Amino acid sequence: MPHAEAMAFNNLKKDAEGGTMYVNLEPCCHQGKTPPCVDKVISSGLKKVYISIEDPDKRVSGKGIKLLKEAGIQVHLGLCKKRILRSK
Ligand SMILES: [Zn+2]
Repeated sequence: MPHAEAMAFNNLKKDAEGGTMYVNLEPCCHQGKTPPCVDKVISSGLKKVYISIEDPDKRVSGKGIKLLKEAGIQVHLGLCKKRILRSK
């Protein structure tokens, strides 16, 4: 099962170049059953990424965000965070 990010890119009808992505969880940066989503986000040419919460997974926890920033993508953390934590 591909991650949400990968599915979103697969469903895109337009080029993601210069676009903005909204995700509730930080994109993963480790090789799991699927390739890391961070690589996909970076190679897509997105300009901004809004993330609600950092991935609590120790293999990620902020590293995905760091990689995005290092690639020159504007990262905004904390979008709707309270609402997301409450709905758990
Ligand atoms: Zn992922």
